[in-house]
Amino acid sequence: MAIDYSRRKPVHEGVTKGQYEAITEAMRLIVEEDRERGMDSSSEFVCAACARPRTMVGSVEYDGIRLCNDCATGFEVARINHTAGTCAEYVAERAASRG
Ligand SMILES: [Zn+2]
Repeated sequence: MAIDYSRRKPVHEGVTKGQYEAITEAMRLIVEEDRERGMDSSSEFVCAACARPRTMVGSVEYDGIRLCNDCATGFEVARINHTAGTCAEYVAERAASRG
């Protein structure tokens, strides 16, 4: 039986395994650094891309726009794929895809 992958595109689509691993490793390090700096994992913000309350730990700010760790991963992948320009454009696209 075939697994239906069509419902949701994998976040790593279009990048090599090595590129994806490099991005996720970098994102994991950001989480670690935030924890080491003593950032409170209960402090939340609303992510600009997914519009959900997410922990500040591991979040990344691009040009004044804060993304959660998952969305930052998606943005980095999109940048490698050249499907994203600026973070503002990425956020606008995500908002449009939410409908
Ligand atoms: Zn997000």
